[in-house]
Amino acid sequence: MDYRVLLFYKYTTIDDPETFSAEHLDFCKDLELKGRILVANEGINGTLSGNKKATDQYMEHMKADERFKDIVFKIDEAEGHTFKKMHVRPRPEIVALDLEEDVNPKQLTGEYLSPKEFKEALLSDDTIVIDARNDYEYDLGHFRGAIRPNITRFRDLPDWIKENKEKFMDKKIVTYCTGGIRCEKFSGFLLKEGFEDVAQLEGGIATYGKDPETKGEYWDGKMYVFDERISVEVNQVEKTVVGKEWFDGTPCERYINCSNPECNRQFIVTEENEAKYLGACSHECASKENNRYVKAHNISDEEKEKRLENFKELV
Ligand SMILES: [Zn+2]
Repeated sequence: MDYRVLLFYKYTTIDDPETFSAEHLDFCKDLELKGRILVANEGINGTLSGNKKATDQYMEHMKADERFKDIVFKIDEAEGHTFKKMHVRPRPEIVALDLEEDVNPKQLTGEYLSPKEFKEALLSDDTIVIDARNDYEYDLGHFRGAIRPNITRFRDLPDWIKENKEKFMDKKIVTYCTGGIRCEKFSGFLLKEGFEDVAQLEGGIATYGKDPETKGEYWDGKMYVFDERISVEVNQVEKTVVGKEWFDGTPCERYINCSNPECNRQFIVTEENEAKYLGACSHECASKENNRYVKAHNISDEEKEKRLENFKELV
């Protein structure tokens, strides 16, 4: 474990995101870091992998900058890089929520809950816990009893809330996400929408899982992460599996992307069923000319036809 994965964000003013991004990319490349960083006028959001020395230097460099002096890094140990390349990109927002009227989390955001306070809220009957992540993240793992908005992109969350508003309006709402950044704006949006009692898990699931008091308790399954690891453990107290195999519904935690490049849907599938169904989520996707699984495994036309027959067994 000579490597580390860093997860971080900071809402702060960055005057010239384009120039900052170009310079920051050079800096990261010099340190041989890999990962993805988004930069906007409103701040920075990133995840990186690198060796211990490089990640130490990166964190030191950031904290020496007045704008990022109190930035919090969530640190995972790793065996090597968890990204292939290094990207630093200027963006309008550091997490795309695409609100008509943007929310500034420095001015409006939900109350911050420590892991311990969040755990108490989780166990309280009059609190509604909303998962602020996407459906495929929830399906691999989530807090016990949390509500699953059926969205595939964060920017669809505000509309989902508007449609389901009556269900939660008079309740105490607590939200959570991977590292805390999505909740900063989302909880602010909820307050703006008229919800009165809104709180968020500070530092997200990543912090909750490592907290010495909570130890990730009441988290079921694994946590989806946006790097080559795909998922990591959270609950140090007990281990459960909530992921379900796409085709047969058996417990499973193995995510792949659909072999049809135009679909690219992420779904949970066993290695056996991946082969059986040509790495695709549907017959339509499997039969595509440019099926990536067929290409990668040099499957003959005859064999492809044979495996396509497997879909007939499904109802
Ligand atoms: Zn598909």
